[in-house]
Amino acid sequence: MTHEHSDHVSGLARLVRAYGKKNEKKKKALPVFVSRLTAPAIDWTDVPAPPVEQFQAGSGWTIGNIVVQSFTIPHDAIDPVGFCLYAEGVKIGIATDLGYMPESIKVHLRRVQLLLLESNHDLEMLKVGPYPWSVKQRVMGRNGHLSNTHTCDYLEADLDSGVETLILGHLSEHNNHPEIVRMGAAQSLEARGLKPRLVIAEQKRQTEVFAY
Ligand SMILES: [Zn+2]
Ligand SMILES: [Zn+2]
Repeated sequence: MTHEHSDHVSGLARLVRAYGKKNEKKKKALPVFVSRLTAPAIDWTDVPAPPVEQFQAGSGWTIGNIVVQSFTIPHDAIDPVGFCLYAEGVKIGIATDLGYMPESIKVHLRRVQLLLLESNHDLEMLKVGPYPWSVKQRVMGRNGHLSNTHTCDYLEADLDSGVETLILGHLSEHNNHPEIVRMGAAQSLEARGLKPRLVIAEQKRQTEVFAY
């Protein structure tokens, strides 16, 4: 888990319960990895608490043959993180829920083959959209979410040229549109001469499974 906001943890109890049921005979529970400071913020009243593995934000560990590296992200949660996953020579980066793109994260996202990156909102849509002003300020702030413009700036200046699959996600339902994201990102990639596979992840639809 990257942080305790409801859009990230609301499905967790159900997932833990479903996994437990499926693996009842084997007596296996789904291990959940949460940062040490985030762990107390997760509510387990609806389901028996699974084995929670607590980690220090910024640390790394292994799960089977996958090496996990966490890194701190700028977001208004208790102890939010992103992840890089390494296995069999493949590196995957996951960075959503960040108010801006600090140099430290750019470094973490070097040499990724697959990157899931936030492209949260279109600034104009957010400004004229339905959210109260205080929420708009929060979303736009340094601890809020990455706008399409932020994301395109990163693609134009810093995206690793070896990326094979770029998934843009965590799109705002009210303040963004997948086609706006796709067009902007395609332009930025073209400006760099990069041709990764571009996928726009939608809120209510599962993406395909990406295999390497
Ligand atoms: Zn969040
Ligand atoms: Zn979120």
